[in-house]
Amino acid sequence: MDIKEVNEKFRHSEPEEILEWAIKIFPYQAAMTSSFQASGIVLIHMIKRITFDFPIFFIDTGFHFPETLEFKNRITKEWNLNVHTIIPMMSKRKLEQKHGRFLYEKDPDFCCLVNKVTPLRNLKKEIGVRNWISAIRKDQAETRKNFMPLMRDNERNLRIHPLVNWTGQKVWAYIREHNLPCNPLYDQGYTSIGCFPSCCTSKNEHENGERAGRWSGRSKLECGLHTDLTAEKTKEAL
Ligand code: SF4
Repeated sequence: MDIKEVNEKFRHSEPEEILEWAIKIFPYQAAMTSSFQASGIVLIHMIKRITFDFPIFFIDTGFHFPETLEFKNRITKEWNLNVHTIIPMMSKRKLEQKHGRFLYEKDPDFCCLVNKVTPLRNLKKEIGVRNWISAIRKDQAETRKNFMPLMRDNERNLRIHPLVNWTGQKVWAYIREHNLPCNPLYDQGYTSIGCFPSCCTSKNEHENGERAGRWSGRSKLECGLHTDLTAEKTKEAL
């Protein structure tokens, strides 16, 4: 497949067009990762209208807000979704014994590596699926502004981003139009929802960019799941 050509074709495409293409071209060879945020819910709703039983993987870092877990469980049941939960290899007790308490404060990059990035990387190898759909968008952060509909990661997996051309406004308009449920934390002032420690996720009352409440006051901008997808590396990988 010529990724450049496909990206050119999807340069201004709507999410459904990219999704339909991916589901058709990779039957039973694609999956989605989601933390059940607003963009994820939109994407899951779109997938549900195209196919059923599509595999969705949720990384349970052990630090999610109870509201997130409750929402994920509720929507899984109500929408009859095929959701699989991934957990870190190392238990929280072992992690604490080895690295002390509050690793997310002391070394958030390492905490994300152990609790998010490595479990997903291991799963990908284990199940052998090479095509991964996620709900990331260019307008979410400076770090994502060059993202394309299709990219490759360091392990040569294909990353598919159907919502890449959409804005946050479009996501919320879709949610309103289809009356979709959302994580209740959005009503409390969160605009991007990750793990509960306040150093990882805080309210973003100034609407200073959707992800401004993530690792606020630190130089960290990403958990690491998408950091090997820079445009430069993608160009190299093409
Ligand atoms: S977001 Fe925070 S708590 Fe969650 S894995 Fe990363 S550093 Fe750890």
